[in-house]
Amino acid sequence: MDYKETLNLPQTAFPMKANLAQREPGILKTWEEKKVYQRLVKSRNGCPVFSFHDGPPYANGHIHYGHILNKILKDIIVKHKCLEGFLVRYIPGWDCHGLPIELAVEREEGEIKDPLELREKCRLYAEKYIKIQMEEFKRLGTFATYDTPYKTLNPPYEAQVLRALASFVLKGAVYRSDMPIFWCINCHTALALAEIEYYDHESHSIYVHFPVEDEQERKKLLRMCNLEDKVSSHRVSVMIWTTTPWTLPANLAIALHPQFDYQMMEIQGKNGKPWLSLIASNMESKVEMSAQVKGKMMGSTVKGKDLEGLKTRHPFEDRDSPIVLADYVTDDTGTGAVHTAPGHGAEDYVTGLKYGLKTYAPVDGNGRFTDEVKLFAGMNVFEANQIIVDYLLKTGFLVNSPKDRITHSYPHCWRCKEPVIFRATSQWFISMDKTGIRNKAISEIDEVRWIPEWGRDDIKGKVEGRPDWCISRQRVWGVPLPFLYCENCGEPCVRVDVIEKTASIVEKEGSKAWLLRPAKDFMPEGLRCSKCGSSSMRKESDIFDVWFESGSSWFAVCVQEEDQGFEGKDPKRGFVDLYLEGKDQHRGWFHTALLIGIGVRDKAPYRRVLTHGFVVDEEGKRYSKSKIEKLKATGQVSSGYIPPEQIIEKYGAEILRLWVSYEDFRNDIAFSEKILARLTESYRKIRNTFRFLLGNISDFNPDSDAVAPEKMEMLDIWALSRLRNYISRVRSAYDNYEFHKAHHDTSYLMNVDLSAFYLDILKDRLYCEDKTLRLRRSAQTSLYAICRDACRLLAPILSFTAEEVWENLPKKEGDPDSVFLAGMPRPEDIPPLPDEDKVYQIIENLREIREEANQKIESARASKFIGSSLEVMLNIKAPKNRYRFLFEYENLLPDIFIVSAVKLEEAEEFAVEVKKAPGKKCARCWKYFVSEGSSDVEICQRCKGVIERLQVGLK
Ligand SMILES: [Zn+2]
Ligand SMILES: [Zn+2]
Ligand SMILES: [Zn+2]
Repeated sequence: MDYKETLNLPQTAFPMKANLAQREPGILKTWEEKKVYQRLVKSRNGCPVFSFHDGPPYANGHIHYGHILNKILKDIIVKHKCLEGFLVRYIPGWDCHGLPIELAVEREEGEIKDPLELREKCRLYAEKYIKIQMEEFKRLGTFATYDTPYKTLNPPYEAQVLRALASFVLKGAVYRSDMPIFWCINCHTALALAEIEYYDHESHSIYVHFPVEDEQERKKLLRMCNLEDKVSSHRVSVMIWTTTPWTLPANLAIALHPQFDYQMMEIQGKNGKPWLSLIASNMESKVEMSAQVKGKMMGSTVKGKDLEGLKTRHPFEDRDSPIVLADYVTDDTGTGAVHTAPGHGAEDYVTGLKYGLKTYAPVDGNGRFTDEVKLFAGMNVFEANQIIVDYLLKTGFLVNSPKDRITHSYPHCWRCKEPVIFRATSQWFISMDKTGIRNKAISEIDEVRWIPEWGRDDIKGKVEGRPDWCISRQRVWGVPLPFLYCENCGEPCVRVDVIEKTASIVEKEGSKAWLLRPAKDFMPEGLRCSKCGSSSMRKESDIFDVWFESGSSWFAVCVQEEDQGFEGKDPKRGFVDLYLEGKDQHRGWFHTALLIGIGVRDKAPYRRVLTHGFVVDEEGKRYSKSKIEKLKATGQVSSGYIPPEQIIEKYGAEILRLWVSYEDFRNDIAFSEKILARLTESYRKIRNTFRFLLGNISDFNPDSDAVAPEKMEMLDIWALSRLRNYISRVRSAYDNYEFHKAHHDTSYLMNVDLSAFYLDILKDRLYCEDKTLRLRRSAQTSLYAICRDACRLLAPILSFTAEEVWENLPKKEGDPDSVFLAGMPRPEDIPPLPDEDKVYQIIENLREIREEANQKIESARASKFIGSSLEVMLNIKAPKNRYRFLFEYENLLPDIFIVSAVKLEEAEEFAVEVKKAPGKKCARCWKYFVSEGSSDVEICQRCKGVIERLQVGLK
């Protein structure tokens, strides 16, 4: 007889080999055809809303690993919350305006003079990349309302941006001013704080005499220093230090600290009289060391505040540079006397305002000196550095060597990576303090939950320290600022009614209407210049800082959404439950969204802000295409950047999903092919476990074959109890955004608890017992629950595999056709189990003994004493208590140890001996048995019974 035929071997259509890259597109197609996400959202009608708002990626280029990390994390959250019963309408967004696209279009098409044509080309460019990125995001298995994304170039969105601006105007926070801002001379644009990157940069380091030439001033100063006798023997100066010689033409003052002591240092002149040069008295040694001069402090000290107003002379411009006072002057670098150019520094600017100095910046948008700077007109400022230094050397005002350099952290442009300058231009600003926006923002930060906690201090520091928000850009591709100027007198006209009128036109026609229509179309009836009464106006040609546009997204998307009667409204209108982006957004999108929140509603727009780390290589360096390609080009690394589509082609998107859940995303996440290969191995184990589960429940009808808990085997009760524990752990991991814990709990369950223990033991019962009787059905009841619940629990992470498992799972009456419509399992869904805790503990205790027995069996196998563990009879000696425990569960022992027999003995010491099992090997189940009757019996008593019943059944 072929006994194999009588065994219940696993059967399933769920393939062992995943072939993810080939299989996934089919699953994506089913989701799309079955409208799974749409049905899921619809089924949550009237449920509590979880509003989760997408930070828009920039519509430029293919997606990179940072996007993948971000989008998969969001997808895990969206799916988890949906499965939990929340209504989550996740609208993907794209940031479409701004300089990078404008530059890319100009690179492709050359210079385009007509702004409307340039805008149209930019629009097409953005739309093209939205399409590309959308397909790439979908390929990752993400759910979103891809049919109705939000785009910052959509007319209704643009109109909301204008309305957000109107709120700031209404508050009185918007003003126009000359103010120094970061400026890239290469990209020809103002830069926002978030667009600045700091790199080390080598700059000049010069010490410069600002002479006190006026005789009266000189006498007065020397008298204060008790050095009147030096009036004719010495030249007198105030010494400054700077790393940006090019800002010297714009010098208008020298700032001293009011409380510092200043004193004259005598320095031998290179030609002519020695200098007496004023520095902070405690800076003596620092100046001597870094300027390499031999100095001698002379006379008495004088407080900074007593020198206010003293006139020094600019070393090459025809004007004085007076002494002013400022608290920010420090005594850690320089001379304690600070070169002040209000047009080229933020602090200088503030000091300039205080002293009525001009915001003077004689540098044009290309970074060239204007004609006002006679000596250096037309020169590029960075090139002028050396020329200015040489000039100072020649004229005798340079204290130190013209070759001195300093390496320090210096602001660079995020686009072109070139050093930027600080330059005053006429711009539109939102005041941080005039209407209390800064203070309100800081207090709102405390109302938000920041995960991880350090986010709170990070963003708070950034809001506290930021200058007023420069919202204007002198470019084309963006939403125009809806301001007017009087044609007659040039007075700016900033009015809510103009903005509202513009918004209603833009809502229908798009922001290009501002360019197409005449100014009068945006002017309410009877509008006159507030200064001269003229009714003739011209339009502003600046556009918005794109960060204002993206920061308005909660107002343009989430609020709009509700106004359109989005069901299941949250009473706290418009306030988003969760923002989730990279940790650099504390100065970017989180920051500007907060400021817009304060401007529009005096409230933070979000209740929780979660940040993720960056994608790094195995050494912890940013894994970015440009960096890696650069390193490869210079031979510093052997392998280049691997584009995501290649990874997906090789491993499948599912492995990227597993990768995202593998580490704590609040830290940086390492990416390498080695890591993916390891994850593929761990995926294979999870898949095989699912395959085993599915294979052994293919004949199980969950509605009619399930065994009631009271009738289940102890081991199966243990398994259900373990499942209950697993469910609560994974659920709390999701709730706390600790997906790596769900990942690790799953690996442990699958590999350690199931594969290496429970399923191993069950094989005999599943394959050899009666197909439909209690012993096997009891095991299947547990297996079914594990398979069904693990699959639903893992659906947010392993979306493709979970759907595949679900498809192959025997269904209950009324089960949906997608795992995403089947909800999340809850620990309480598992019915109460008889003596659950006690049974769990008993099995765990037996499992510990099994560990010890297994070691002995392994070494017996290694020494070829036995082949399989079924050839073994274990002889267990145990002290009284343990012996009693084992004796009580004696009948479970052979199964749990996977041996043919166990013999127990009471002894002083615990010991396990491996012996050969007596009797012969059953031809059906391979267990050893001792036959009582004739010696030609091939199979054991149990198997004999099974076959007899099977034959009766067959008849
Ligand atoms: Zn630049
Ligand atoms: Zn006017
Ligand atoms: Zn047998």
